[in-house]
Amino acid sequence: MNKPVTLRRWPIAVILACVAFVIWSTALIASAHRLQQRQDANIQLVRSLSSVEEILHQLSNMAPPPRGWRPIENEYSRIRREIDPNPSYGLVRDLMPRVDAGVIEMSAVQHRMQGPDISPLALLELQRTLEAQADIAVGAAGEGLGRAREDEASVSLALAGRLAQMDVLVVICCALTAFLVVLLAERRRAARALRESVSLVSATLEATTDGILVVDLHRRITGYNHRFLELWRIPPFLAAEGDNSKVVEFVSSQLVDPEEFRQDVERAYAEPAGETHDTLRFRDGRVFERCRRPQRIGEEILGTVRSFRDITEREKAAEALRLMESIVVNANEGVLLTTMDPPNREYTVFFANAAFTRELGYEKDEILGKNARSLYSPDVDQSEILRLASLLARNQPCRAELLLRCKDGSEIWAEMSFVPVAGTSGGPGHLIVIGRNVNERKKMEHELRKLSRALEQCPVSVVITDLEGRIEYANPKFTELTGYTLDEVLGQTSRILKSGDTSPEEYRQLWETIRTGEWSGYFHNRKKNGELFWEAARICPIRDSRGAPTHYLAVKEDITDRRRIEEALAQAKESAEAANRAKSEFLANISHEIRTPMNGIIGFTQLTLQTPLAGDQRDYLETVESSGHALLRIINDILDFSKIEAGHLEMEREPFSLRETLAGAVSTVAPEAMGKGLDLSWDIEPAVPDALLGDSTRLRQVLLNLLGNAVKFTARGFIRVEVGAETVSGGTAVLHFAVKDSGIGIPPSQQQAIFEPFQQADGSTTRKYGGTGLGLAISSRLAPHMRGRVWVESEVGRGSTFHVTASFGVGATASKTASERGESLDPDRPSLSLLVAEDDPISRTLASTALAHQGHKVTTAANGVEAIWLLEQRHFDLVLMDVQMPQMDGLEATARIRKREARLGGRVPIVAMTAHAMKGDRERCLAAGMDDYISKPLDVSQMLLMVAKIGGIAAEDRALSKEHA
Ligand code: ADP
Repeated sequence: MNKPVTLRRWPIAVILACVAFVIWSTALIASAHRLQQRQDANIQLVRSLSSVEEILHQLSNMAPPPRGWRPIENEYSRIRREIDPNPSYGLVRDLMPRVDAGVIEMSAVQHRMQGPDISPLALLELQRTLEAQADIAVGAAGEGLGRAREDEASVSLALAGRLAQMDVLVVICCALTAFLVVLLAERRRAARALRESVSLVSATLEATTDGILVVDLHRRITGYNHRFLELWRIPPFLAAEGDNSKVVEFVSSQLVDPEEFRQDVERAYAEPAGETHDTLRFRDGRVFERCRRPQRIGEEILGTVRSFRDITEREKAAEALRLMESIVVNANEGVLLTTMDPPNREYTVFFANAAFTRELGYEKDEILGKNARSLYSPDVDQSEILRLASLLARNQPCRAELLLRCKDGSEIWAEMSFVPVAGTSGGPGHLIVIGRNVNERKKMEHELRKLSRALEQCPVSVVITDLEGRIEYANPKFTELTGYTLDEVLGQTSRILKSGDTSPEEYRQLWETIRTGEWSGYFHNRKKNGELFWEAARICPIRDSRGAPTHYLAVKEDITDRRRIEEALAQAKESAEAANRAKSEFLANISHEIRTPMNGIIGFTQLTLQTPLAGDQRDYLETVESSGHALLRIINDILDFSKIEAGHLEMEREPFSLRETLAGAVSTVAPEAMGKGLDLSWDIEPAVPDALLGDSTRLRQVLLNLLGNAVKFTARGFIRVEVGAETVSGGTAVLHFAVKDSGIGIPPSQQQAIFEPFQQADGSTTRKYGGTGLGLAISSRLAPHMRGRVWVESEVGRGSTFHVTASFGVGATASKTASERGESLDPDRPSLSLLVAEDDPISRTLASTALAHQGHKVTTAANGVEAIWLLEQRHFDLVLMDVQMPQMDGLEATARIRKREARLGGRVPIVAMTAHAMKGDRERCLAAGMDDYISKPLDVSQMLLMVAKIGGIAAEDRALSKEHA
């Protein structure tokens, strides 16, 4: 405590008394001193006057005057100078002039007496004067002496009085001094006691770890220790000011709830007698314990004493303890606390956490008080138990995997840790037992053993590497296959098997792939003995529980033999495919070769039918024409199928009207259906768009095939076509066509086979219904080209429904049919000058006859050379040019014609006649400089339309240019 102790009031009284005493004694001493001085002066005066009296006596007794007068005179003057400053001189001041006058007179007389001519009378006279003057002077001196003596007597008396008083004074002084000495001693003792007590309190305060603050009732700080400043981080000057309000203001911001703190302080002022004990929480996490008690003297309350203790660490420790307790109570591991008495093998359970009781199926009460040993299964490994007991007897921690018995008799494997804790001060110790159910792990270990056995027996190589590819495990199959021993491969990378056939790029890709996922592929590796072998490998990362790869696992199968077989198979397949392609090519060619004469037969039959004929002749020729058509259909089917198989099919993408296409197909079969008395109908859902983009010819072909079959295999009842939209979005419509009939139906066993080429549900149908068995094969292969498929639902005797899906573009304006485009032959068509270049005489004759029939002037050439020669001779409105011709084919001839025209000007339209109509033919024709093309065998009407169109335009152009010229 720094506050000085205040003086009591009685010492002030003593001091005042002392001061009064000192003043009095000083006055007394001064007065005595003055008296003393006066007495001394009187004594001196008496002494001086006595000397004067004596001198005067000497002077008066000198007769005749002594020679030594001058010294006496001087002596008097000296005495006189002594008397003058004497304070007592006042007593004799009025007498001294008389003495002086006597002395002066005596001196004058003396002088005169010493004159040279003095008479004895005069001398006598002078003697008497001298005596008289001496008497006066002595008388005056004697009177002065008398006064001085009187005064001296009175002064002596007064001085004696004063001295008596001074004796009293001395006594009082001594008494006072003694009293003061006692008082001071007492006071020093009290002060020392006070200092001791202050230092005790102060040392005690400073020694305590609590912060102490004493505040009086007027909010003034009357005491505190440094710990208080330290705890509250208060600058010392602030505390020294003594204003508690400032201190409160300074510290409150440190607290979590400053307002509450301020209110608390106010409560302390309002109820100083109160005693409180609470805690304060700081923003920085500190916690203080706070006590408040009143500071009393007797019943009087002077203020309050507050003590603060930093209990942050204690709180943390308590919290940690609570946490630890909660961990133990809620731990997943079972925790058991027992007493420990190894010699008697007594381990009485006094605590068991929930995990332990739960795992063994006991209630807590059932397990407390038990000997922990009773929890072991009777089958527990006794040697293990003995090992544990001996370790515990030496207070050594130990662990073991033990079989425990649950309450219901079942058994579990537990991994147990035993931690003996010695008792405090030699008392009995305790045992902490921590147990974990490892049933799953045991099971897994068992599984693992099985798996590892499986790996050992595995017929494929299994290799596990670290992330750098170093081999950590390889199964026996691997060593057996590669010829390396396990020791030779462990720690090596699989580079030891490298044959050099795998490129670094492939390895790079492999590593890149397996870092994120699984890689599978093939290795061409080398065995230890140098032999090469093929392996099919699958490599994937082995990941830890967080998904990070820790190893790579490679499973590899020796496929050297399989590879050989595969290679042989691939070769066989390649040859088969080549053979198939050859077959398709052959079919395409042969179909073409057959179609050309067929076209001749049909064309000339048609031409003949236009001439006047006898009744039978017409019948025969009509039969020839329909048979020709039937045969042509078969040939067309074969050609189509071959095209598809050979991959030469090309799909158009042109605008068309769905309704028109469907109407066209239905109307084709309508006559035959009506002839059989079948009810033929069709329905298109309103949602189905009409304007589509796609290959309407191929769609028509599919529908015609299905409708044709329906008519063919239905004797009575109905045939119905339904069209619906599966989806219409994003400019694409997926349509669903269903062709239903009430015909003979198809047995389930045949419903797949009929889509294969040349397959019919019943072989006998060939005889009864005819057909090639190609229609459905073509349809089912065309549908995927329209991003759709074909399938059938059928019941024998009830009928069939053939479904087709196909996808088309939407929104284009449907193209018009030829008749709608006005492409019918104009009766007022101009006569054109035409050149037909064709090597096949039948086709050549058919074309020229048909064209001549239309009024055109036709010239023929048998090959390209002839055609060029003719074109050089004269003008033609149009050239029909066969593509395949001997000597010079149509493509080359066209190219030459165009070259010549480039030099000489003019341009004759050239229409190709191409037999293949295979993929790319059209492009080749147009690239060679041809204007259009028609396919062979020639469709006479198609040819006439084409000639009329292109030739007509050319003729018009020519007429116009002539006019301009
Ligand atoms: P084709 O009709 O020329 O024989 P398809 O491939 O068109 O060849 O048909 C194959 C076979 O499928 C037919 O021979 C027939 O047995 C069966 N088939 C096709 N359509 C029907 C149908 N609507 N009703 C009953 N059987 C049918």
